Amino acid sequence: MLSTTSIALAQNKKTVYLDKNAPIEERVKDLLSRMTLEEKAGQLNQLNYGMFTGPDNKVDGEQEKLDQVKQGKVGSFLNTLGVSKIKKVQQIAVEQSRLKIPLLFGFDVIHGYKTLFPIPLAEACSWDMDQVFLNSRIAAKESAASGLNWAFAPMCDISNDPRWGRVMEGAGEDPYYGSVIAAARVKGFQGNLESVFDILACVKHFAVYGAVEAGREYNNVDVSRVAFYNKYLPPYEAAVKAGAATVMTSFNVFDGVPASGNSFLLTDILQKKLGFKGFVVSDWNAFAEMIAHGYAEDKKDAVYKALKAGSMMDMESRTAIKFLPELVKEGKLTEEEVDKAVGSILYYKFKLGLFENPYKFLDEKREKENVFNAENRKMAKEAAEKSILLLKNNNEILPLKNPNQKIALIGFYANSKTDMVDMWKASADAQDCVTIYEGLKKQFSNLTFTEGYKQDNSTSQELLNQAVKNAENAEVVIVNIGITSNLSGEDKSLADINIPEGQLKLLKALKETGKPIVILVSSGRPMILNEVQNLSDALVQCWILGTESGNAIAEVLSGKYNPSAKTVMSFPYALGQIPVYYNHFNTGRPAPDPNAKEKPADFYSRFHDIPNEPLYPFGYGLSYTTFKYSNFKLSAPVMNEDGFLSVTADLQNTGKYDGEEVVQLYIQDVTASIVRPVKELKGFKKVLVKAGEKTTIEFKIKPEDLSFFDQNGKSILEKGKFNVYMGGNSRDVLAASFELR
Ligand code: BGC
Repeated sequence: MLSTTSIALAQNKKTVYLDKNAPIEERVKDLLSRMTLEEKAGQLNQLNYGMFTGPDNKVDGEQEKLDQVKQGKVGSFLNTLGVSKIKKVQQIAVEQSRLKIPLLFGFDVIHGYKTLFPIPLAEACSWDMDQVFLNSRIAAKESAASGLNWAFAPMCDISNDPRWGRVMEGAGEDPYYGSVIAAARVKGFQGNLESVFDILACVKHFAVYGAVEAGREYNNVDVSRVAFYNKYLPPYEAAVKAGAATVMTSFNVFDGVPASGNSFLLTDILQKKLGFKGFVVSDWNAFAEMIAHGYAEDKKDAVYKALKAGSMMDMESRTAIKFLPELVKEGKLTEEEVDKAVGSILYYKFKLGLFENPYKFLDEKREKENVFNAENRKMAKEAAEKSILLLKNNNEILPLKNPNQKIALIGFYANSKTDMVDMWKASADAQDCVTIYEGLKKQFSNLTFTEGYKQDNSTSQELLNQAVKNAENAEVVIVNIGITSNLSGEDKSLADINIPEGQLKLLKALKETGKPIVILVSSGRPMILNEVQNLSDALVQCWILGTESGNAIAEVLSGKYNPSAKTVMSFPYALGQIPVYYNHFNTGRPAPDPNAKEKPADFYSRFHDIPNEPLYPFGYGLSYTTFKYSNFKLSAPVMNEDGFLSVTADLQNTGKYDGEEVVQLYIQDVTASIVRPVKELKGFKKVLVKAGEKTTIEFKIKPEDLSFFDQNGKSILEKGKFNVYMGGNSRDVLAASFELR
């Protein structure tokens, strides 16, 4: 039965919030004026619907949640999957609640929905922004077609620590690159927020979550303001500038205050400095976690502190729904403060058109046609090919050009579907993923598979004997090692990221056969590959590549796709070297220049047992062809503060294959009022050069490429000497200098 208010609303044509021609701001204002405090609290309440259904297809406490929707006590759900389910829930909100406010349905769409794309870290190694955009676009399309209207992505946390399981969700260690990619991902998800395939993006985790100490999940961070402004903030900022509708707080403390209650982060920086106009959602239970942090006394205090600081929607800690009306009545929170938060959420419900058509995303036919179709899978395969990182290729052992060659494929993971899907597999089915064995079988007729090690990474004499026998009968051995993809993502921190003992034992046994060895590493993070690379002839980092993994790897190994990826995270030489990253500061005691004439100092910054440098630096990755850089030139030795410089170099493909190269531009501010990194990426271009051909690459250096932020976040440009570098990775570069006047 319709309530009297609903009838009145339906009859009153002047009800501004129902008038689709009225400006959104006015509709929001009108709706707010009609809401009770309890209903406002409801809009701030996001609950976990629960995607895990029992045998009767019911989720825990489902009826209770639906009753709350009816009472206007829920603004959004996360983890509601599938059009039919979402429709049922939305229907209650828009047909049975007093004000008929539609719900938002959010989900962690981290690398695709049903068609899985490479994990974001792998995707970032493509340096292909059109591809990155398309990947998010298709992820949005599948999610939207499945009824969702909000993706909890992209993660924009810069991280230097591969012990942290969540590096797989980001774009690596560089703020400039992280910014470019964050913007592409936001645009991919959101489009212009008009079509039935455009969904809200969520920039997370604000802020600095990538700096968790020792890479341990839910741990805290302690970074300087200089690092905050120059290193961590840029990707979040780029995502906000790209129009991201929502931002998620992080779990960590920043400057002594948990992010969800941190007004410096949420008000001073996010709203005032970055001009963010969307809404802020907490991370899961993060309001309540302020109690454990020792920052809030109880849940009431937590929601009070969170809202005061600039948090808005409460994900799963149920503090707002319980205490908000009380806090307003006691005069601790003002109605204006509450309206600002609620209004920001309502704004996007209007913007998405949900008041006009709450079923906009709920079309079974569209779901059927757009989810996991051939076109999406084709795109996922292309994305996966572009993410595969060739780290070593001695004697051009790859590609394997003869499809009839006798190949021994060894390694449990190469034939294990369940080890291919990570915790962010969304609603995808492991059985839909193409394993390495399945992929290679299609391209190579003489392939024999043995496990070599067990799922838990241990091995046995029997498994080793079988593997060695397999290798002895083959012309080339392909070994798949790494860690299960289930050890990637949230709450997957590892203190030891060396290759497991059992796999090393296997590699050593295979090495004894004298056969050429191609090692494929599957992992959601850079592992420590020093020993492994010594045991290999070719080494390929395959990451976690999604649905089309095996097909993409087969294209690369057979040479149908020439690898073009470059790593966006340094590969540590050894565990004790972490964090190791290219854009570090110099010490007062740098390692001596081997070409210097004077005797080196006795005491300098080093490890006595390993080099200072990573095993594979940021930006590194090989192709089946080779590239030579020459003729590096600056258009002038001096640049004016309002001018620009042109930097050029010739790039020649000196090998036998057509290939793509990611040309990288780095700059160093040699002396500044705040110490600057030894190199900072300031530009890149991915170019195709045909075998034997040469092309000229040009970058323009602009004043903003030379500025940096001081401790107060003020952008400054200082005159003086700058070094500029160009090359195919952050280590092997051509260098020149100029002066800014
Ligand atoms: C994670 C977020 C995620 C949220 C919802 C949290 O534990 O940190 O990244 O979006 O859960 O699933």
